[in-house]
Amino acid sequence: MTNRIYYTEPYVQTFEATVERCELVEIGARVVLDRTAFYPTSGGQPHDTGTLGGRRVIDVVDTDGDGVLHLIDGPLTVGANVRGDINWPRRFEHMQQHTGQHVLSAAFERLAGARTESFHLGPLTATIDLAREVTMHEIAAAEEEANRVVWEDRAVTIRFVDADAAAKLPLRKDPTRAGMLRLIEIDELDLSACGGTHVSRTGGVGIVAVTGWEKFRGGTRVEFVCGVRASARFRLWRDAVSATLRHLSVAPEELAGAVERLQNDNKSLARTARGLQERLAVHEGRTLAERGMRVGSRLAIVETLDGWDATALKALAVAAAQQPGAAVVLFSASSPALVVVASHRDADIDAGAILKALVTKFGGKGGGKPDLAQGGGLVGSAADLVAVARDLLETDRVA
Ligand SMILES: [Zn+2]
Repeated sequence: MTNRIYYTEPYVQTFEATVERCELVEIGARVVLDRTAFYPTSGGQPHDTGTLGGRRVIDVVDTDGDGVLHLIDGPLTVGANVRGDINWPRRFEHMQQHTGQHVLSAAFERLAGARTESFHLGPLTATIDLAREVTMHEIAAAEEEANRVVWEDRAVTIRFVDADAAAKLPLRKDPTRAGMLRLIEIDELDLSACGGTHVSRTGGVGIVAVTGWEKFRGGTRVEFVCGVRASARFRLWRDAVSATLRHLSVAPEELAGAVERLQNDNKSLARTARGLQERLAVHEGRTLAERGMRVGSRLAIVETLDGWDATALKALAVAAAQQPGAAVVLFSASSPALVVVASHRDADIDAGAILKALVTKFGGKGGGKPDLAQGGGLVGSAADLVAVARDLLETDRVA
């Protein structure tokens, strides 16, 4: 079994070890050492990265019975003495989140009687799943208590006990493994069996900040960041919020209200615009009819129009089709184009068939009835669309 340096000395960043096994795999090699400071993925905490014998460490896996397996990007010589360098910023960041989790979980348990069911340390945030639903106030209280413990800079100690001794101790959670247990104790707060890496005093966590929560499996999933992550998150939110505050010219506490007002204004403007477009469509429809071309008994009205959405384009086509004999095809100037086909009953044109012919030629989709059809997703130049539509209206092919 690999001697795990991180069990007793979590602050070791560089170490020397002997290569015991090296198995070649497609992307490099799987290596087992006599001792390692590389933390393997387990207990919700991701593995360490870094270098081993000059090779890049891609993954570190804990195998039951086989020790710690290092996946590296090239082979090492069995029996060689190699140097391992842990990617320390990544590891320390994990230690802060993991220790912060112990503190936060203990605070939830003490103040709200909410047990932590599971812990996950992701690349950007960490989460704990609480066994019961907690309120916003309970979350605030636990966060405050966690930070009080962090700032009291209490000792975080490691000790090993056997199962019998562990059974007599007030562990926060029943241990999941048998045999010798590694216990992590936060002075006068928490005692848990845990194989992860932790800072040596709670002050090293820096700060515990809850960033969000949601209902999850009958309980609450609480998302949080600690230490350097909290600082990075603060910068991200500060930049986003201050840019928004500048745009809106409001104070932070007025932001939510300002956004709500903007949304309401926007809805009301959209309603007004729709009403105006509908009224305008009646006038514009007449203008379009004046520009139409007489083809036998039909009045062919084919145009590409800018600045009208699908609803308005339809209103416009329907208004233009009020003219006796009118056969109307209107395209939006956007690409891909929207299209509306409308016809006066005297025009003797099947709008649905015209639309189908256009979609067959230019792609997109749509459908409708003999007097009105609409579609979208047509790809072609405005000139081509108009030419083909005009041709369709001028012949009897689809009439
Ligand atoms: Zn732990």
